Amino acid sequence: MEKWNMEQLGVAVDMAGCPNNCQHCWLGKQKNGSMSVCEFRNIATQFKEWKDENGNAITKLGFSTWHREPDFRDDYRELWELEKELSSPGMVKRFELLSIWRLARDESYAKWAADVFQTHAENGVATCQISFFGMEEVTDWGVNRKGAFKDSILATNRLIEAGIAPRWQLFATKRGLGGYDQFTRMIHELDLFKRCEAIGREFEVFINCFSPEGNGYLIDSETLEEGDLSKIPQGLIDICRDGIENFGKPEYVLLDEMANDNSPPNLSANMYYISINADYDAYPNIAEIAPWWRLGNIKTDGVDAIIRAYRDEITPGMKANHTIHVSELARRYGVKGSKKLYDKSDLVCRFMHQWGVDFMEGKQGRTYGMKGQPTANL
Ligand code: SF4
Repeated sequence: MEKWNMEQLGVAVDMAGCPNNCQHCWLGKQKNGSMSVCEFRNIATQFKEWKDENGNAITKLGFSTWHREPDFRDDYRELWELEKELSSPGMVKRFELLSIWRLARDESYAKWAADVFQTHAENGVATCQISFFGMEEVTDWGVNRKGAFKDSILATNRLIEAGIAPRWQLFATKRGLGGYDQFTRMIHELDLFKRCEAIGREFEVFINCFSPEGNGYLIDSETLEEGDLSKIPQGLIDICRDGIENFGKPEYVLLDEMANDNSPPNLSANMYYISINADYDAYPNIAEIAPWWRLGNIKTDGVDAIIRAYRDEITPGMKANHTIHVSELARRYGVKGSKKLYDKSDLVCRFMHQWGVDFMEGKQGRTYGMKGQPTANL
């Protein structure tokens, strides 16, 4: 991703939080706040009024009233109108996400969402992703909320009734493996392929591993290993959109590949975003919410310091992201002989998490300077 050029920026404010605390949540455990509309407007105004040293403002700004669960607040309709009012033209989008919690509780929500998707769906089609970890017990464990599985089934039904295609994502874990036969049967019993066809859409299900950062780092022991792939039923693989292609490679294989990789991680996202949590702390959206990425605090540091930190990439994590060699991270944090399956970028995220924890504990030496420069300040 190119360096940010001030053409556009999204600002996502976690006004209400999330009803869940998923075991795999890459954002980590966050407190649920209760930010007022007035405070949200105030943040938006500060971003709109910001100018750089040359007097230039950010060309286009998009404001989002959520950063975790969309539409979790009861006044979600007003908040959506607020986002449209405050954002630059074309900067308000709806991604393939809705509140599963609300879908199961608010009968009017799916129809409202279908109308919103008609005009603002990011890729022009109405689709909503729903995450499972397997059947009821393991999904409730994964979402960390009793009733989450039942909510997801009810949400699926309500989405289809409203003309929105549900897309099921199955997060594979060691504890979920034994239930995938039953999970596959459930997909057929719910007749999801035909019911989606009847609304002119295709039902998609896919299976993948979780990223070992944020909360996901804490359940790394649940990561599937090389030998576990054979335990995934063929009947499930056959109906999964990408088969089992999303599982990456065993860590020991990736470590060999990384041994001579002298490029930095360069973690990035497909959009330029700053997220602001319930404590008004701001983070770039390229990685987990963690102290080594933190840009500053809206109330105590101000928007100017935050935007400059984002633009100039001066947080320890952002500096390291462009300087530490992947080979160095692999040497320090790789587990030789580990058969755990990772997508390469996910394994790099785990290394960056481990680097960040070490950094915060002051364990960094002076050997991270790449291009021959010591960078003890990373
Ligand atoms: S993964 Fe999504 S639904 Fe789960 S805790 Fe994180 S933000 Fe909430």
